[in-house]
Amino acid sequence: MQLPSKLPEVGATIFSEMTQLAQECGAINLSQGFPDFDPDPELQELVARFMRAGHNQYAPMPGVPALRERIAAKTLALYGAAYDPETEITVTTGATEALYASITAVVHPGDEVILLEPAYDCYAPIVRLSGGVPVPLPLEYPSWRIDWQGLQERIGPRTRLLLLNFPHNPTGAVLSPEDLEALAAVLRPTPVLVLSDEVYEHVVFDGLRHWGMSAHPELRGRSFVVSSFAKTYHTTGWKVGYCLAPAELTRELRKVHQYIVFSVNTPIQHAYAAFLEDRRRYLELPAFYQKKRDLFLSLLEGSRFRPLPCRGTYYLLLDYSRISDEPEGAFARRLTREHGVAAIPPSVFYHDRTDRRLLRFCFAKREETLRAAAARLRRI
Ligand code: PMP
Ligand code: GLN
Repeated sequence: MQLPSKLPEVGATIFSEMTQLAQECGAINLSQGFPDFDPDPELQELVARFMRAGHNQYAPMPGVPALRERIAAKTLALYGAAYDPETEITVTTGATEALYASITAVVHPGDEVILLEPAYDCYAPIVRLSGGVPVPLPLEYPSWRIDWQGLQERIGPRTRLLLLNFPHNPTGAVLSPEDLEALAAVLRPTPVLVLSDEVYEHVVFDGLRHWGMSAHPELRGRSFVVSSFAKTYHTTGWKVGYCLAPAELTRELRKVHQYIVFSVNTPIQHAYAAFLEDRRRYLELPAFYQKKRDLFLSLLEGSRFRPLPCRGTYYLLLDYSRISDEPEGAFARRLTREHGVAAIPPSVFYHDRTDRRLLRFCFAKREETLRAAAARLRRI
């Protein structure tokens, strides 16, 4: 059969590949980003309770009302942004579906979408499936800051969307209020929309705050803001996220969402709604992950890996140029096979495979896992 692929250059994702290799080699898996510990037992019990209470049929298409109300309350409390749960908040099957639905809703064939590289792996393929054209803009190195001049230069008559992701996977970069002002100034004379992937909104370190699009009224008015409960509640396997957007954008988003999944897992939505009442659960997250980051950093002291700054997310970039000049992909595979630690080569997040001899390590792991992995890394 001669099947013309819609994504000819795409294979299995780097996350599937490295996790499989880690399993085959019995390596410690610091590649794909997921915790190796369980979510709060109370949250698990809530899911069971809502199942037993009969919440097992389709949820409303935009999401369980109680959950949308809690998301609205959280967003108002944290960012001063009042989103209407009826018309501006949609619960999705993870952030991934929110990204897919929002891109599909607004990108027409030939539209250009600016992506900051390194870019999370699903962005460009989703843009291409809608006939859009990804336009890469590299983050400056080593500061990982946005090149405002470069952004301005890439905006043209075909630009539909700017795709952002802060706190940034894989660099750990975060935005400042000055960045939001600079962004608003660049976009002000244009009709360009923003899709802001903020799944790590609650994982920001060193006393910094998360500055997302919701915090800026002007940017909020042209943005889809995507988040996920996966990172916040240690539940990457539950696949529930959400999208905040002005009513006009949400209307278009929901047209797509209703035909991808229609609605999202009902008992889990109820459970998250109940769990969200306790603000400490997410307010304590920065300290929880900062402790893990700092432990991992201290365990790496004396190794030949050189850590880069990490201000948010649960990933740490390590420069291995003192150990090897192999390309990132080759080194990542050898590290897994010969030294028993799996990591992600960030070059896969660049269209031209920019290779800086860095690897991304996930530190959302139990202390013993981090100790065992660091002991192996110190020996190299
Ligand atoms: N965006 C980024 C930047 C991510 O790192 C991830 C993976 N956790 C996702 C989106 C996907 O989130 P979800 O698992 O909720 O679909
Ligand atoms: N977001 C996770 C990461 O960056 C991976 C999610 C996935 O496997 N698609 O590691």
